[in-house]
Amino acid sequence: MQQEDHYDLITVIKQLQESAKETVEERIKAEALFTSIGDGAMVTDEKGRVTKVNKTALELLGFSRKELMGKWFPGAVVALNSEGEPIEAMERPLTLVFLSGKTVSQKARYVKKDGGQLPVYITVSPIVLEDKPIGAIEVFRDISREDEIDRLKSEFISTASHQLRTPLSAINTYANMLSGGFQGELTKGQEKYLNIIIKASARMNELISTLLDISRIEAGKISHNPEKIDILALINGIITEQKRMAEIKKIKITVQHKKNLPVVISDPLLLGEIYSNLISNAIKYTPKKGRVDIELKVSQNELIFSVKDTGYGIPAALHNRIFTKFFRAENAARHETTGTGLGLYLAWQIAEVLGGRLWFKSRENVGSTFYFALPIEADST
Ligand code: ADP
Repeated sequence: MQQEDHYDLITVIKQLQESAKETVEERIKAEALFTSIGDGAMVTDEKGRVTKVNKTALELLGFSRKELMGKWFPGAVVALNSEGEPIEAMERPLTLVFLSGKTVSQKARYVKKDGGQLPVYITVSPIVLEDKPIGAIEVFRDISREDEIDRLKSEFISTASHQLRTPLSAINTYANMLSGGFQGELTKGQEKYLNIIIKASARMNELISTLLDISRIEAGKISHNPEKIDILALINGIITEQKRMAEIKKIKITVQHKKNLPVVISDPLLLGEIYSNLISNAIKYTPKKGRVDIELKVSQNELIFSVKDTGYGIPAALHNRIFTKFFRAENAARHETTGTGLGLYLAWQIAEVLGGRLWFKSRENVGSTFYFALPIEADST
């Protein structure tokens, strides 16, 4: 062997030793990172069998390492949905990740070894090697404190709203009596001020109703009373209630539908709440002299309501936040200062209770169309 070759070999061996050391160091670091994650963490192979689980996961769930290692995770640890029913294996994030190849998050309750329940926020991501999924990593966070705070908040809102109702109805009654001349004739100025008081108390009453509806729905206490509904009468009633606002803004409202609408069986109050919210938003977020076009269509097994406006629209970047609680887009709030950001959140919750689908299309400065699809019996026409 020549001198040069010899040196080369030594260099290569040294490099190999270095890189082996680096790999070991990397592995130790990754291991330390995995063990020290403050949340429950677990790795599975491509079949969803646990190959690694950290101490926090074991402590949170109450299982020993031996009881989980090598087990198919959805089988080893049961997850419950918000109704307390077991989530099927096909709906578990771990399965969804293998099906979609994408990160999936889910709120659920894990059943611990002692039978207790642990509210968790789960995020599962695929581990991909050369384009092939070779497993998944799941991290789950204990959200019992957040859940409890949420519950207390809802309880507080519900109690406070009930307490506000009584004094508010006194304000409303007496303001109406004064305005009706029960205490003598009013000057123009007095009348004007009283009208402002009456309008403001009506708005507050509406807000309280929304808050109460939300706390009821969040507590799972909303009553769902399905009955036969005359859909057109329901929609026309809502339009009559909101006509005044549309007239002031010179907005034209149209309703289109096919001749024979199907018989719809649903809860008229809940369904009316969704329609009314969508129609009032369309009027509210459309500038003067615009249009609001309502349409009812029937697809195979759904009644599809849509309301299209020529309004301010919703900026694309905000589309995914529109149904969240208290959210208001700046472009709309600039024109229309009164609003709570609760209407669409409530509509979304009600849509779930009714088993329907709610969605929208919108372009800023062009307009929006909101849709609500309600399931109907296939042969109810
Ligand atoms: P609120 O109307 O009280 O603000 P909503 O929950 O009904 O609350 O609506 C949330 C936000 O969604 C509104 O503040 C507005 O930014 C946007 N939005 C809803 N409907 C429309 C619409 N038809 N056109 C434009 N923006 C809308």
